[in-house]
Amino acid sequence: MAAPTQSIIDTRRHQMFPKLEHQEIERVRRFGEVRRYAAGEALAKVGEIGHGLSIILAGKIDITQHDESGRRAPIVTHGIGEFMGELAQLAGRPVLVDAHATEPVEALIIPPDRLRALMVAEAELGERIMRALILRRMGLLETGAGGPVIVGRAENGDVLRLEGFLRRNGHPHQLLNPETDPEARALIERFHVDPGQLPIVLCPGGQLLRNPGETELARCIGLVRPIDPARLYDVVVVGAGPAGLATAVYAGSEGLSVLVLDCRAFGGQAGASARIENYLGFPTGITGIALMARAYNQAQKFGVEMAIPDEVIGLAPADDSAAGRFVLQLSNDERVSARAVVIASGARYRRPPVASLEAFESTSVHYWASPLEGKLCAGQEVALVGAGNSAGQAVVYLASQVAKVWLLARGPSLEASMSRYLIDRIRGLSNVEVLMQAQISGLEGHDGMLEAVRWRGPAGDEVRRPIRHLFLFIGAEPNTHWLAGSGVGVDSKGFVLTGADAGPSRGPLETSRQGVFAIGDVRASSVKRVAAAVGEGAQVVAALHAFLSASAIQSGTAKR
Ligand SMILES: Cc1cc2nc3c(=O)[nH]c(=O)nc-3n(C[C@H](O)[C@H](O)[C@H](O)COP(=O)(O)OP(=O)(O)OC[C@H]3O[C@@H](n4cnc5c(N)ncnc54)[C@H](O)[C@@H]3O)c2cc1C
Repeated sequence: MAAPTQSIIDTRRHQMFPKLEHQEIERVRRFGEVRRYAAGEALAKVGEIGHGLSIILAGKIDITQHDESGRRAPIVTHGIGEFMGELAQLAGRPVLVDAHATEPVEALIIPPDRLRALMVAEAELGERIMRALILRRMGLLETGAGGPVIVGRAENGDVLRLEGFLRRNGHPHQLLNPETDPEARALIERFHVDPGQLPIVLCPGGQLLRNPGETELARCIGLVRPIDPARLYDVVVVGAGPAGLATAVYAGSEGLSVLVLDCRAFGGQAGASARIENYLGFPTGITGIALMARAYNQAQKFGVEMAIPDEVIGLAPADDSAAGRFVLQLSNDERVSARAVVIASGARYRRPPVASLEAFESTSVHYWASPLEGKLCAGQEVALVGAGNSAGQAVVYLASQVAKVWLLARGPSLEASMSRYLIDRIRGLSNVEVLMQAQISGLEGHDGMLEAVRWRGPAGDEVRRPIRHLFLFIGAEPNTHWLAGSGVGVDSKGFVLTGADAGPSRGPLETSRQGVFAIGDVRASSVKRVAAAVGEGAQVVAALHAFLSASAIQSGTAKR
């Protein structure tokens, strides 16, 4: 991966590597304990769980990263008053860099839980540390250092899947192409890999995975760990989209024990948005992933546990013998227990009824338009189906990356479904052609690679264009299949009923089961917007407090 001309280390060095004042160090001593290291001793090793934040009290440490061929490359040397750590230290995840003492070192080690407490107790200092941790992660993302190395062709469907997964989870990684990279070829020979088994993934801990699933990869790099089956959380949130993350931030900051589960990545649909322009407070817009990454880090600061990717496949029906306890079943056979549940599992994309669509799904058919897809389609013609705001945003973004966008919509005009500002913007783009009353009639290609798209216009005439990438933005269905048999009521389309629609004496966001709440896109009659999802995520926390304290009083366990 080529390094950008001006790295974040060049432009933000001052904020990335701040030096703490003597008085500041004295103030935070209570959060950690002093440890000593001999010259040459390792303070951290890539792939191993870190100890937390290390503030250097005496001596110096070298921070290094592995480059693509495994050689150590220096990042920075920390001296007295500086600290070692990045985002992984907030949640006690594996370290992404190596750290060695270059001379005898004395360091104040602040473990992850105490680091989170420090950030809450020391607002200004906490903000400076948090900013440094985020910038350091961004620096690692730029180079891919410390993350797994994927060996395979960039346009291969499984490479795209794995890269997409790591990118959306904010995890650094590197890609080596065996066709152009001698190191990739050397790795393939060393591990006796058949070209048909590509991609392979080398994890920082040295393990080799052959075309792994996302869960296998996540476990190997320490993104997700087993959940304690004996633990009873106050709240389990299903879904880490804007609704689920908002619940996590407010519930975590108000002292509830929270576990958030998501089967893909944090950010949900919003995380896939190329640019959100209508979210309050961001007049120039913000990419969905940037907004969601901030929320994800914020939730972790308040001690919220994240299990991503972990899929919930069922909510056990009400059982008198387990009163006050909801049990969720995960696809990996684990179980999670909580005193209340928040359903924030959102919606998934609809697919048009076109023959052989599935054959092209991993490589040429896309359900969002992020910079990854933009790069893949650069300079080409693409087709996009849809007429809503997400389609409009994707068209505007793609038009800046590709030669031409064909926008196909079924209805007679965009006005009924798309915001005025997007319609105006699309009309001003010379490389976008809008075709109303048009429908995809066929897809052509080989080996999963799309070569041409056919569509029919209002007169029934069929057009064929040599197009290798098709984008689909035709609405969504609720992710509620996992609620079958749970006793949670849904409407005719599968969206979860809440409030008066769910039954008598139900609170505004409460489902037909007391103690189970639904928020965001998954909720029947919700407004399908990021701000609405975030608002409901905040609102539900008040309902959670009320439910938890009422059930504690009922069972006689109320705190005095
Ligand atoms: C491309 C695109 C662009 C958009 N742009 C905008 C915009 O500019 N402005 C705006 O206001 N809105 C926009 N939206 C809409 C907005 O993103 C959604 O309204 C919002 O994300 C809904 O949030 P949510 O948390 O309710 O659900 P989602 O964002 O759908 O998140 C649900 C999460 O639940 C997880 N999940 C589902 N089932 C399970 C399960 N069984 N177990 C575990 N996890 C599960 C999913 O993986 C997902 O991460 C856009 C949507 C898209 C697709």
